[in-house]
Amino acid sequence: MKEDGQETPKTSSNSKSRGAVRSVDTYAAQCHNCMKWRVMATEEEYEEVRCKSSSVKFTCESKEGLTCDTPADIEYDSSRTWVIDKPGLPKTPRGFKRYLVLRRDFSKMDAYYISPTGKKFRTRNEVGAFIEANPEYKDVKLDDFNFTSPKVMEDTIPEEALKKATTAASGNGGSNKRSKIAKEEA
Ligand SMILES: [Zn+2]
Repeated sequence: MKEDGQETPKTSSNSKSRGAVRSVDTYAAQCHNCMKWRVMATEEEYEEVRCKSSSVKFTCESKEGLTCDTPADIEYDSSRTWVIDKPGLPKTPRGFKRYLVLRRDFSKMDAYYISPTGKKFRTRNEVGAFIEANPEYKDVKLDDFNFTSPKVMEDTIPEEALKKATTAASGNGGSNKRSKIAKEEA
């Protein structure tokens, strides 16, 4: 699981591939010592670990009542699709929400944010314009918005999705674009 010369990722999230669920439904972090995966109770807890992960190593002991002897909560395998966030990504500012949507062909996850008023942002420039136009958010830091999408772990992508992607690439690749967009907006 070594990636690009980096250390084993400490934080990850994963999404189930079945049906219409193409967002993240479980958050987990990997213990630096025993490499077991621990499920995070909430997205906030996960973001907390993720934002500190470049300096503070996550270990089983950082969760109350856990030691490295406790069996893993979850295994890294292809029973679900895993995506790995970049370590150190900032915590989402209070009131805002970070969303990740897996593309239909599993090629990529797209990251976007929703404001407390329900406005959707796809770039940091859009966030900047929103903050400028709404002085009540002037304390919100632009640096806390990060659109880096997590890496989709190829070995956990369902086989049928890989097959479909190959077929689409050899045929008319753009044909399913319309339905993809429709779904994401829903
Ligand atoms: Zn451990």
